[in-house]
Amino acid sequence: ADAHIAAVEAARPLNAFIVETPDHARAAAERADAALADGSAGPLAGIPLGIKDLFCTAGVQTTAASKILEGFVPTYESTVTAKLFADGAGMLGKLNMDQFAMGSSNETSAFGNVVSPWRSAGSNRPLVPGGSSGGSASAVAARLCAGATGTDTGGSIRQPAAFVGIAGIKPTYGRCSRWGVVAFASSLDQAGPMARDVRDCAILLKSMSGYDPKDSTSLDLPVPDFEAALTGDLKGLRIGVPREYRLDGMDPNIAALWDQGLAWLRDAGATVVDVSLPHTKYALPAYYIVAPAEASSNLARYDGVRYGLRVTPEGGNLADMYEATRAAGFGPEVKRRIMIGTYVLSAGFYDAYYIQAQKVRTLIARDFANAFEACDLLLTPTAPSAAFAAGDKSDPLEMYLNDVFTVPASMAGLPAMSVPAGLSPSGLPLGLQIIGPALGEAAVLNAGYAIE
Ligand code: GLN
Repeated sequence: ADAHIAAVEAARPLNAFIVETPDHARAAAERADAALADGSAGPLAGIPLGIKDLFCTAGVQTTAASKILEGFVPTYESTVTAKLFADGAGMLGKLNMDQFAMGSSNETSAFGNVVSPWRSAGSNRPLVPGGSSGGSASAVAARLCAGATGTDTGGSIRQPAAFVGIAGIKPTYGRCSRWGVVAFASSLDQAGPMARDVRDCAILLKSMSGYDPKDSTSLDLPVPDFEAALTGDLKGLRIGVPREYRLDGMDPNIAALWDQGLAWLRDAGATVVDVSLPHTKYALPAYYIVAPAEASSNLARYDGVRYGLRVTPEGGNLADMYEATRAAGFGPEVKRRIMIGTYVLSAGFYDAYYIQAQKVRTLIARDFANAFEACDLLLTPTAPSAAFAAGDKSDPLEMYLNDVFTVPASMAGLPAMSVPAGLSPSGLPLGLQIIGPALGEAAVLNAGYAIE
């Protein structure tokens, strides 16, 4: 723990942590020493983790990287962090992120950008770590913590993992409890681990998963021993290549990496088949209706009364207080999402946008179900590019396009992971994505294990 605490302090220029909690990590290490001596040690005894600041942590400020929650100290622990701590893990601190998990580059945090520990060959320009779990990505890649929690609504575990060369898995929707996780888009949000390799992800995911009566969407099913599934043997497995993911104008390096990934899976015994997911091109526009719609509803609770910030204009009434608090507390991307969300849910446009997007969502889920008749897993790139420099994507639409490969699995609630698979010509990490059928995490992890 002490070595990690010192590393966290030395790496403050990365801005990966919003709050550091060295005492929490030290206490876990002390408990681990005692537990190892008397044989009662849990599977994560003394392991120092970083916790994304979207998870409520008892007695430790939780902000979702927004000014509107600054100073909010939950009295309760999220189910996922409670499970990790019960298995012996300690917390090094709360990790920076995109505000309310909205973003793909960690540039929307109210606490400043997170910087990636990577640089392009021959350049010293700071690169983004991806988002929204950018602090988690940067902290794990810089070896500040052994692993971290992330959350993924449309790619926020997988894309940052790819940008910094680590592994990360979004499990099946419902595998991890959302209780105590600040809500963005509740029908899409899932917690998952980010770690140096696939084995660490398997161990952390086992600890994080499981039924929770406090989350009615959590799955009441046994959690497999994910680590035991890591054999690297893919004999008899059919890997599908969705042809719609081969975008026009795709970066040739990404295409080559994809082919290389397929070759590795063949070497491990798998066969490769072509499949079609015909509604892929509608996934991104439908996501950017469904996610903001749910966000606008979820974020209505930040009213200056119940949590964090309150701004009271002189002589104003209650409505003035709401307005002033929300105007000062939410960042520009959050306001954009709330406005899109309220628009698509408004009486005049509900059928044209929201209902239509929900229908598209069903078609996307059906595409995957059909594809999984012909194959066991899908392999695709995680992101259309390597990490970019901060400030390079100032147009929100261009930023949203970065989620093109990750969003479809989110819309269908399927497990998907990113594994580090190679380097771009300028020496930056690139990731491959494995998508599985519902509850197929063990197979997804094993294919990732064969690649890494
Ligand atoms: N980049 C996507 C968005 O901004 C996904 C974010 C996420 O998965 N939390 O909505």
